[in-house]
Amino acid sequence: MNDELFNLIERLSNLLRQETRAEGQSLGLQPVQQEALYYLSTCNRYSDTTLAVTEFLGLTKGTVSQSLKVLEGKKLIVREKDKNDKRITHLKVTEVGNTFLAATCPPKKFTEAVTQLSDKDQSNTAILLSEILRNYQITAERNAFGVCRHCKFNQKTPEGIVCGLTKEPLSTEDTMLICREYCT
Ligand code: SF4
Repeated sequence: MNDELFNLIERLSNLLRQETRAEGQSLGLQPVQQEALYYLSTCNRYSDTTLAVTEFLGLTKGTVSQSLKVLEGKKLIVREKDKNDKRITHLKVTEVGNTFLAATCPPKKFTEAVTQLSDKDQSNTAILLSEILRNYQITAERNAFGVCRHCKFNQKTPEGIVCGLTKEPLSTEDTMLICREYCT
């Protein structure tokens, strides 16, 4: 069963990579550049730095810096200084970047395949895959970059949702994003 699951997930990953690469060719993007762009569209304000992209993709700083320069050159991302700490530079996806992602990510054929399942089956599959991902991240000791709403620091208070680590308020949208500081 373990081998079967591995083979299935591996084949899905390969197919998704091939399809995503094909979609990215319209803008002349390499897969790593697309992955960086997609990550930046899904991460929160604590995780949109060059260092975080490097950690998330598990690549060298040089490779990631080059990829980010390409994304910037194509006006898919912009750099913004942090309002409180000028040493921090955030990487924000532009409207052009979001439009590109909306049209290409996930690939259309993937969406067509998934929507052949019922809503209930889609939801159950997402729950099971999330569980495998969470267990794998913990076992592999790579459990940063989880979704905020599942983090142990995500606290519901009478004033609203707060990050227990930074003590800053979180919007509902924030809680759906990936965070570098995520903790189980
Ligand atoms: S609650 Fe956890 S995941 Fe959410 S912003 Fe705070 S540290 Fe990050």
